[in-house]
Amino acid sequence: MESIDVKFNKLIATLALYLEQEELEKVRQAFVFAAEAHRGQVRKSGEEYIYHPLGAAQILAEMQLDYKIIISALLHDVPEDTSRTLEEIELEFGSEISTMVEGITKLANIKYRGIERYIENLRKMFLAMASDLRVILIKFADRLHNLRTLYALPEEKQLRIAQEVLEIYAPIASRLGMFEMKSMLEDEAFKYVNRKEYNWVIGLIESDFKPRLPSVEKTTLAMKKILDDGGINYLDIRMRTKQTYSLYKKLLRYDRNTSRIHDFTAVRIIVQTVPECYQVLGLVHNNFVPMKGKFKDYISQPKPNDYQSLHTTVFAPGEEGRTFEVQIRTMEMDQEAEFGIAAHWNYKEKGSQKINKNLKWIQELTKWTQEFVENQKFLESLKLDVFNDRIFVFTPKGDVIELPEDSTPVDFAFHVHSELGNQCVRAMINNQIAQLDAKLKSGDVVEIIRDKNRKFPNPDWLKFCKTSVAKSRIKSSLKDRSLVERFLKR
Ligand code: MN
Repeated sequence: MESIDVKFNKLIATLALYLEQEELEKVRQAFVFAAEAHRGQVRKSGEEYIYHPLGAAQILAEMQLDYKIIISALLHDVPEDTSRTLEEIELEFGSEISTMVEGITKLANIKYRGIERYIENLRKMFLAMASDLRVILIKFADRLHNLRTLYALPEEKQLRIAQEVLEIYAPIASRLGMFEMKSMLEDEAFKYVNRKEYNWVIGLIESDFKPRLPSVEKTTLAMKKILDDGGINYLDIRMRTKQTYSLYKKLLRYDRNTSRIHDFTAVRIIVQTVPECYQVLGLVHNNFVPMKGKFKDYISQPKPNDYQSLHTTVFAPGEEGRTFEVQIRTMEMDQEAEFGIAAHWNYKEKGSQKINKNLKWIQELTKWTQEFVENQKFLESLKLDVFNDRIFVFTPKGDVIELPEDSTPVDFAFHVHSELGNQCVRAMINNQIAQLDAKLKSGDVVEIIRDKNRKFPNPDWLKFCKTSVAKSRIKSSLKDRSLVERFLKR
């Protein structure tokens, strides 16, 4: 294993590519502070603790993020795990950094307690995010580094952490447009969540996909020449292979048939302007045979997440039936696609452009917070396999009740409390009067209007209520009622 010094020098070398000398000095100071605070602590993997914050900082440095983010990453476990306090961090590094570290510490205290807590966790994540999105970036790096050293933990814990990543972190990274981060998180987690399927995909990559690479490499070279001859001053042209987890998901959609997947390898061409994108597309279509129906113009019609690029699939020359995808976009589109919201703290954008970016970010955040409050749209966008047949509704106090799809206010009432179920007479859904057999949707706020004199449920409810909890509670209350009635008749 590399020594701490080697790791730290690597971090400084990465940072030196974009930070000023005095900023590097502050990073060095934070490293010394963290290393001293964590001195003597050892991780489960057997390495000294400081490797972890160093690893997290390295991930963020590779995204070329602001030095304050790097410093906060180095310090992120100090208040939680050492005798040094937040106040000391504030004294030494200022309130902006101590506030970030505080945010990460708070997030760390959110523990995963099964599916019911899921939405609650998300809400807390988002609240933390609304105050400072940088906290989430650090949290991602923290989690990614933990995943990379997950082998040291017991199996049960591995599974829990990896699942949490697939269910919570990756979808949030995706919503923030951080596809690079999302991919890294998913690929690391995939291994632990389903080892068998992971090995299956890795095997396929070796047997079916890797043999496709040389022809794409050859074609990339040919393409370079075509661009040069066409007088295109491109910024970059490179080959990309699809990440493991997204390849897996695609294989599942295509009956596990590898021959139906055409975008395992893509050639990405980065140019300076939008007109150049179309010029390059023309050259590509002129020189390679495009596959029918595969051309997509996400520049004039961006994806809902604002992704922009031109995509086309072409046949590799001289290779029977071999196809690959070509992605054409500007540098800005590329940055946005890889780093999403994190691109806004990226040092590649300097000066006035950066100010505009920040403004855009604030607008995005406002939009986000609104969505978050509305909840519904957000929940819909997060439809994961586990939740396909589940809905989440809210009590007027904001507690979350998880129910199966098509549940009614009666189900809701019995899930909150048997007595509330027995006494319910009407419901308010999102402040509108509703029938007791109305179908609830994720995000609904449900209020039960009760009649306190009422003791027993209506047997008719059994006809429409959905959950076994409600049904069994109704039946047992009715049994009580018949006992009481029999007693009264006597
Ligand atoms: Mn940590």
